[in-house]
Amino acid sequence: MREKLVAGNWKMHGDLLQNRELLDAVVAGVAAMRKGSCAVCVPYPYLSAVQVILQDTIVDWGAQNISQYDKGAYTGEVSANMLSDFGCRYVIVGHSERRALFGESSDTVALKYVAAQNSGLTPILCVGESLEQRESGATEQVVAEQLGAVIMKAGIDSLANAVVAYEPVWAIGTGKTATPQQAQDVHEFIRRNVADKNAEVASNLTIQYGGSVKANNAAELFAMPDIDGGLIGGASLIANDFVSICQAVQN
Ligand code: PEP
Repeated sequence: MREKLVAGNWKMHGDLLQNRELLDAVVAGVAAMRKGSCAVCVPYPYLSAVQVILQDTIVDWGAQNISQYDKGAYTGEVSANMLSDFGCRYVIVGHSERRALFGESSDTVALKYVAAQNSGLTPILCVGESLEQRESGATEQVVAEQLGAVIMKAGIDSLANAVVAYEPVWAIGTGKTATPQQAQDVHEFIRRNVADKNAEVASNLTIQYGGSVKANNAAELFAMPDIDGGLIGGASLIANDFVSICQAVQN
C-alpha cells in the first residue's frame, strides 16, 4: 500500500531560533503519528541544526533543491551527497519557483532527480500547470511532459523511490486552492499515465497535492482517492496549522 506524506516547504524563510520553536511544536504535535508521514524541507544552512533537532523524532527532513552534478567547479551548488551527509531523506526537485524564476527545464529537473536517487535521497518531483495553461486546456499535456522527461531519463521503475507533487502554479501561495475534484482529476491522470507503463509502480506511488493547502481544507483534499498527502508552503511555517495538516493525513 502506498504511503501518505505531508511535507513542508519552508522556501527562503526561518532563522535558528524560529526554526527551533517551530520544530519543537511540530514534533510534539505529531508525536502520535507514524514515522515517515511528516517531513520538512528547509533552507540549506539550517540542515545541520534541523538534523540535530529531528533525529530520533518521527519527522523526516530534506532540502528544496539540489545540483545535477556530483562534485566539481560549480560555485554555489550543493550536491546530493552533501545532503545525505546531513541525514536528508527528501529533496524537492522541479518546484515551479525553480522552473519559472531560475529557468530550470524539465531536462535539468530530470538530471537533478537522477542525482538525488543516486545518493539514496527520495526526490519529491513537482509538476503542474500555469493558469494560462489550465485555461487553454493544456494541463494534462504540461504534466505529462514534465513527468515524461523524468521517466525518459530515469526509467519508470525509478518512481518506486520517488514522490510526485502535483502543484498547479496558480494555486501556489495565492490562497486559491484547487477544488478536491480538480486536484483528483489530475492526480488520477498522473497515476494512469504511470500505470500505462507499470501498474504496480503506479499503485504504490505517493502523489501529493500542493497549492494553498491549509488546516481548513487539507482533510477534504486528502480524502480524495488519488491524493496521498500534501506539499505545504506557507502553512508549514505555522506550527498549529502544519500539525493539523499532518494529522489530516491517515496512513
Ligand atoms: C509550495 O511552495 O510548494 C506551496 C504549495 O506553497 P503554498 O502552500 O504556500 O501554496
